[in-house]
Amino acid sequence: MRRRRRVPPGRYTIGSVARRRNRSDWRTTYGSLAPYDSPRRGTPKPDKRAPVTLHRRQFAALILAIAGIAPEEALAQGRRPARRAPLPLVVLDAGHGGRDPGTIGTARRTREKIITLAATLELKRQLERGGRCRVAVTRSRDVFVSLGRRVDFARQRQAKLFVSLHADSAPGARGASVYTLNDRASDALSANLARRENDADRAGGLNIPPVSLEVARILISLVQAETRAGSDRMARLTVDSLGDAVPLLPNTHRQAGFAVLKAPDIPSVLVEMGFLSDARDEAALRRPDHRAKVAQALARGIHAFLAA
Ligand SMILES: [Zn+2]
Repeated sequence: MRRRRRVPPGRYTIGSVARRRNRSDWRTTYGSLAPYDSPRRGTPKPDKRAPVTLHRRQFAALILAIAGIAPEEALAQGRRPARRAPLPLVVLDAGHGGRDPGTIGTARRTREKIITLAATLELKRQLERGGRCRVAVTRSRDVFVSLGRRVDFARQRQAKLFVSLHADSAPGARGASVYTLNDRASDALSANLARRENDADRAGGLNIPPVSLEVARILISLVQAETRAGSDRMARLTVDSLGDAVPLLPNTHRQAGFAVLKAPDIPSVLVEMGFLSDARDEAALRRPDHRAKVAQALARGIHAFLAA
């Protein structure tokens, strides 16, 4: 939603963005967006008569609040006219963690939670180096985080995109694949993956229900349709960028009812970077240079998503 970046003309200065080559400099400059302080006119006071425009995302926050499932901060932000335009926030989610190890590799007993965290932190580094988005992670160390809390984490921060990283087991399958939310799984492999992923909360000993899709379906179909379109677009971009870097599972974009993808207002994808049940995938995912290649491809997909 580039519209949120729009600033009333003549009232703000963005500095010499064009002259800066380094993107991280650009971020700093953009972040310091400040009222234009003219010696003649002085610093303009906020115009109380100015109409408050609710952008689509803010409208979504309002609807979700009415539905009783929006964080309060989202509503508060929705009421405020957008004066600052921070870089979009991407939430990265390292699958599993703590007492939930995820899948255990068949050949070398690699724990999935270790691979997902290493890949997530590598992707975070690469995205931050790119300077085109802010990045937050649902976990930065080996701790258990319930699926519901992962979704809440992204929603409370009004993330623009949610990307969950995994390397599960799927006997006989090899290669990377990308999943978006659907009540009906596209195939048995996806259904099994979602069932096992959704069991992660039980493995961790907590039972926090995911966002109620039943309530959301009735009240916010508009928001969900937009979110779903965003998730599908992100999945397509991710398949394209991954395809240039690593082997892919056939029918690479699949669908299933993953609980961690159920934020009704944030485009969300789950990436299986490969399967630890395949000895070749397991060996590759253990190597930092391979994870860096996967992260690079994912960063390309994320940048393409944010640029559109
Ligand atoms: Zn997993």
